[in-house]
Amino acid sequence: MAELLQDGSKFDVLIAGAGPAGTVLAYHLAGTGLRVGVIEIRPWEDLWGKPCGDAVAVHHFTNARLPQPPPEVVRQRVEGVYIYSPDRRTRYRVGGEGYIIDRRRLGQYLLGKAVEKGVELYLQHSVIAPIVKEGAVTGLRVVRPDGMVVEAKAQIVVDATGFVRAVARRFPGSLVDDELSPLDTNIAYREVWVYEDREIEEPEIIRIYLDQELAPGGYWWFFPEGAKRVNIGLGVQGGRGLSPKPFFKRLKDLDIVRGRYKVVEAGGAAVPTRRPCNSMVDNGLIVIGDAAYNVNPVHGGGMGYAFYAAYLASQTITSALERGCRSAECLWSLNMEYMTSIGAKQAALDIFRRFLQRLSNDELNYGMEKRLIPEMDVTEVSSRGELKVSVVEKALIMLRGLKRPSLLRQLKTVADYMKRIRQLYLQYPESPSSLDQWVEKVTGLIQEFEAKLSGR
Ligand SMILES: Cc1cc2nc3c(=O)[nH]c(=O)nc-3n(C[C@H](O)[C@H](O)[C@H](O)COP(=O)(O)OP(=O)(O)OC[C@H]3O[C@@H](n4cnc5c(N)ncnc54)[C@H](O)[C@@H]3O)c2cc1C
Repeated sequence: MAELLQDGSKFDVLIAGAGPAGTVLAYHLAGTGLRVGVIEIRPWEDLWGKPCGDAVAVHHFTNARLPQPPPEVVRQRVEGVYIYSPDRRTRYRVGGEGYIIDRRRLGQYLLGKAVEKGVELYLQHSVIAPIVKEGAVTGLRVVRPDGMVVEAKAQIVVDATGFVRAVARRFPGSLVDDELSPLDTNIAYREVWVYEDREIEEPEIIRIYLDQELAPGGYWWFFPEGAKRVNIGLGVQGGRGLSPKPFFKRLKDLDIVRGRYKVVEAGGAAVPTRRPCNSMVDNGLIVIGDAAYNVNPVHGGGMGYAFYAAYLASQTITSALERGCRSAECLWSLNMEYMTSIGAKQAALDIFRRFLQRLSNDELNYGMEKRLIPEMDVTEVSSRGELKVSVVEKALIMLRGLKRPSLLRQLKTVADYMKRIRQLYLQYPESPSSLDQWVEKVTGLIQEFEAKLSGR
């Protein structure tokens, strides 16, 4: 195993964290002629070992210019998603081709390819802080497996350490200093079961169950991995003093999951569920993946967005280093590219998530039964972040004179604010100097939306 040396030499790029974000960045930078180092606290056997639902759509690989995962890494091909109302009387079938992957093996496959092409990998090394000189990150302070603290220098440092933000968190007052409110998180727990006395029907369809009593401010899931094995878990909204474990206990008693099974994996972790952090770059620093809140705020899926952010980061880094610069201005193209594409969608979904989290089971049952948002438009909302006003109007006409006008009014407000926040992201500032003004507009819009939803 390689050990990081303090020999005065300098990396071009030093990546902290080899989860999906850090690995995909290393994969794309490999072979470019740059000296790239990756620092990861886990051992090789536990690469990408963080608890996860393991579901990822096919298009995320294509968008991030990655090969589709090889067969030995795929546990189950996914052909669609069922979304259930809390009373389970309504079921939406939503399209979406994807995979349930073996995370560790996919991580090893991609990072292995990067290492073959010369990326230097330092496993069981822990990043403790960035080295900051005159407002720019110039390297990392790292603890080696032998306990020795070493300093490694780099032209560009990348924080891909996930939820902990090991680098960004220790750069206060910087452009990437954008703290996560606990309410903008989900605390998730999942187990992997192997049934001994049960065959799962339609293993190619993953299931999402909305239920504010079983998973307050989140949902619970049942993702088959073949006919015998399942990844089952739930998330609850953070900041409400809730822990997912007692809810999971209740979940185990439901008829639809019952059977004799062995638990082969168990664990939990937190997920950010908001728009991206206001800036993903500062002088000498790039932040990607969960560390930059690159996730879908509605379902918390973050692997695909981490892949895409990593791909964009590789483009930004190669272009900046070719020009011999590493300032925030030089790296700003990453913000521009991300914020005006996935970032705009993420922000719209952040609005939608805030609305969904306030709905009662009764409202969810009613809304799904009456198809206030029709099945086909759920895909539209989730894949593009757009809730078409025409859809809401159709619902209004259909339901005129029926109950729950307030729910429909709210839906119209949601569609309006989703559109407005998208517009703001499409006008992301072209340079760091206008960031503060833009952030003020975004936070103002969100506060206004929250006030409207609360009827204030
Ligand atoms: C229970 C659960 C279920 C989920 N289900 C899904 C799903 O089905 N589909 C989906 O797309 N997403 C899902 N997500 C989200 C997904 O797991 C994350 O969005 C994704 O892993 C983010 O990748 P990342 O590389 O940014 O961060 P991480 O996966 O967290 O990787 C960060 C890496 O940095 C390393 N690291 C951390 N600190 C240090 C340090 N100080 N020094 C060195 N290394 C460090 C870690 O060991 C880790 O390897 C789920 C999350 C949870 C918690």
